[in-house]
Amino acid sequence: RPDIKNLKEEMEKQLPESTNSLLTDISRTAERADMRVYLIGGIVRDLFLERPNDDIDIVVEGNGIDFAEHLRTDYGGSVKMHETFGTASWIHPSGLYIDVTSARLEYYERPASLPDVELSTLSEDLYRRDFTINSMALCLNPEVFGDLVDPFNGQADLRSKTIKVLHNLSFIDDPTRILRAVRFETRFDFLMDKQTESLALNSMARMRDLSAHRIVEEMKRLFKDEDPPGTIKRLFKLTFWQQFGVDDGSAEQSYIHAGQLKMFYEIHKPPAGQKARWFNYFAIPFFTSKKMYLMSQFSLTKRNNKFLQDIRNLSDMEGVERIREPGEFHRFLKHYEDEAIIFMIAKENMENEDIITSYLKRRIDMPIFLTGEDLIREGMKPGPHFRGILLDLEVAVLNGEINSRDEAVEWLHENHMK
Ligand code: ATP
Repeated sequence: RPDIKNLKEEMEKQLPESTNSLLTDISRTAERADMRVYLIGGIVRDLFLERPNDDIDIVVEGNGIDFAEHLRTDYGGSVKMHETFGTASWIHPSGLYIDVTSARLEYYERPASLPDVELSTLSEDLYRRDFTINSMALCLNPEVFGDLVDPFNGQADLRSKTIKVLHNLSFIDDPTRILRAVRFETRFDFLMDKQTESLALNSMARMRDLSAHRIVEEMKRLFKDEDPPGTIKRLFKLTFWQQFGVDDGSAEQSYIHAGQLKMFYEIHKPPAGQKARWFNYFAIPFFTSKKMYLMSQFSLTKRNNKFLQDIRNLSDMEGVERIREPGEFHRFLKHYEDEAIIFMIAKENMENEDIITSYLKRRIDMPIFLTGEDLIREGMKPGPHFRGILLDLEVAVLNGEINSRDEAVEWLHENHMK
């Protein structure tokens, strides 16, 4: 396929009407303000890949903050400045955020390996980006609207499904790019070229210099993509897990566990929040190499910590696989987090996983028919045995044996007050 030089048609065809009309507005302002303005980043790449993306990122040759002000004057909305970075967001009256960056940033450090050629300011901006496929821009000024700027031939790499860094120090400059590379590999079914992969391997030890917070942010994004088991496997090959004390040999078992977890989510659609799933996948290699304690460095929330504690306790629990009624699970699992339960049953591949799922679904909105106060009102003497009675009641409710307050009171008299 010959190189595409102008993407105006593709933009009209693929982008939502609202995005196109916004880009036309931006184009008009660029002309009035006499500034060179470009659309940049993921949206350009996704136009080639024919994948939906309406995330508008703008680069201006000149002052981005000024340009955002121009947009506000022309079309309303407001401007949020991030002066230290020389960037601004124009908040469109519809509430949409549009990031505007300045390409000419005198105080911005030049990348260490920038070659001695004169680059235009736009190319300099592009050169600071991660991969060739993400370093393409489209002109938005009216006379050149849709013209492609592709100094690193990202178009060819898109065609050959290749992730390629722009220079040899890229991963040293920013090791999170390795994780981004893996994300794009799995998402698009691409591969790093040989050079990029060997740079990734050589820079992997740098991963340990990153804050837990940055790693966690990338993990959240990585494990939201299509193929968590594949991602885990790939990260073993690139020695990511090994940097954090996970054993080489646990790759295969981690892959299997992740596959079972993924299948569990797909088949049973458990109620637990989608948001927490990444942590489950992230934990697998640590669990498999029996080094869950190493996870604590990444448990940034109370919930993560509870999950780790739960996993530790659940590993020692016996008898769960014999349970046949949702309510009976409650006796074992009442105090455990959904995600920890799912983590363990997916690993065990248990026969009764259907029943566990229905337990998880029912316990979310389990009605409370009686409290300790009610028991006293019914004439019982308060004491530690209340706890057992109320648990029995919950079990019966979860099993569908009790469906109203009246039935609960009747059950109480029948079973505990004779
Ligand atoms: P997604 O669809 O996941 O949002 P994206 O490519 O739009 O993918 P973003 O994280 O939103 O990814 O980043 C937008 C652009 O900013 C990228 O296309 C890339 O050019 C640049 N970028 C983001 N992170 C980095 C980084 N760590 N190093 C260099 N460039 C980056």
